[in-house]
Amino acid sequence: MNCDVAIIGAGIAGMTAAIYAARAGKSVLLIEKETVGGQITLSPRVENYPGFGEISGLDLSDKIFAQALNLGVGLEVDEVKKIEKTEGGFRLVCGYSSHEAKAVVIATGLKHRRLEAAARFEGEGVSYCAVCDGMFYKGKTVAVVGGGNTAVSEALYLADICEKVYLIHRRTGYRAEKAVMDRLYANAKIERLENKVIGSMEDTDGGKLLHLNDTQGGEDASVAVAGLFVALGHIPQADAFGELVGLDEAGFIKAGEDCLTRTPGIFCAGDCREKAVRQLTTAASDGASAGLAACRYIDDMRE
Ligand SMILES: Cc1cc2nc3c(=O)[nH]c(=O)nc-3n(C[C@H](O)[C@H](O)[C@H](O)COP(=O)(O)OP(=O)(O)OC[C@H]3O[C@@H](n4cnc5c(N)ncnc54)[C@H](O)[C@@H]3O)c2cc1C
Repeated sequence: MNCDVAIIGAGIAGMTAAIYAARAGKSVLLIEKETVGGQITLSPRVENYPGFGEISGLDLSDKIFAQALNLGVGLEVDEVKKIEKTEGGFRLVCGYSSHEAKAVVIATGLKHRRLEAAARFEGEGVSYCAVCDGMFYKGKTVAVVGGGNTAVSEALYLADICEKVYLIHRRTGYRAEKAVMDRLYANAKIERLENKVIGSMEDTDGGKLLHLNDTQGGEDASVAVAGLFVALGHIPQADAFGELVGLDEAGFIKAGEDCLTRTPGIFCAGDCREKAVRQLTTAASDGASAGLAACRYIDDMRE
C-alpha cells in the first residue's frame, strides 16, 4: 500500500501518532506485528491516565484504536523487518507485505525481561512498573527482583508507599549509580536479600509466597509478599532499524523530545526512544510530536 505516513507499532505512541497525522489530512497506515494496543493490554488496571479514574489497558487501547479507525487510519498486521530508502520516501519490507510511505514513525516500544518463575502471575501480583502499580500495594509488603539502577530505584520508590520492601538480587554487587546506592543503604524499609534467585512463586491466602534459592549454596528461604516487581531490564524493539536511526548503548533510538532521528523523514515515538520516563502519557506525547513532525516533513517536501 502507498501512504503518506507509515507507523510501525500500534501501541499508545503509534496510535496517537496516527490520530494526529490523520487529523492533519494525511493517509496513514499502522503496521502491528502482535497486539493492537501494545504493552498496556497486559494491564488489568490503569489509574494514572488523565481522564479515566480507572480503566483496563485493553479498554483504553480499544478506545484509542476506535478513534484512529474513525479517522480513516488503516491497519496491516505484519512485522516490519526493514526500512529502505526510495526516491519518494521509504519502503517498509514486512514479513508478508511491503508498503511505500513518504514518512515513517517508528513506535515499536519495548519488552520487559520476564521472570519465568513468576510469569503466570503477571497482572495478578507480578508487575513490571512501580510507578504504574505501586499504589495498589500501599501499606503492604512487596519484593523487587533485580540488581541494576531500575531495580534499586523501583525499591526506593516503593519504600515510600509500602510498609516493607525486599530487594532480591542474585549477587552482592549492584549495577546502580553511587547516589542511588547510598539512598538504598540508608533506607530502613528495604531489606536486601542477596545471592538469591526466585525459584518459584505460589498463591497464599493473603498474597504470594516467594521461594528463594541461594546462589552460593547457602540456605534457601521463603518470603511472604503482597506483590512482586520484576526489574530485570528492558529489551527495546528497534534493532532492525538501528543503522538508519542510531541506537544508544541499551538499544533505544537516539532522539530528543522532538522525536527526530538522524534520518530525515524517519521519526520515533514512545518507549523505543531514549528517555527518562516510559509511561502511557509520555508515549502519547511522543506520538503527537512524531505524528505532527512527519506531517511537517511531508509538507516541506512538497513546497
Ligand atoms: C503490565 C504493564 C502495566 C503498565 N501499566 C502502566 C500504567 O498503569 N500506566 C502507565 O502510564 N504506563 C503503564 N505501563 C507502561 C506503558 O504500557 C508503556 O509506557 C506504553 O504502553 C508504551 O507505549 P508504546 O506505544 O511506546 O510501546 P508498546 O506498547 O510497547 O507498543 C509497541 C508496539 O509495536 C509493535 N511492534 C514492535 N516491533 C514491531 C515491528 N517490527 N513491526 C510491527 N510492529 C512492531 C509491538 O508489537 C507493540 O504492539 C505498563 C506496562 C506494562 C507492561
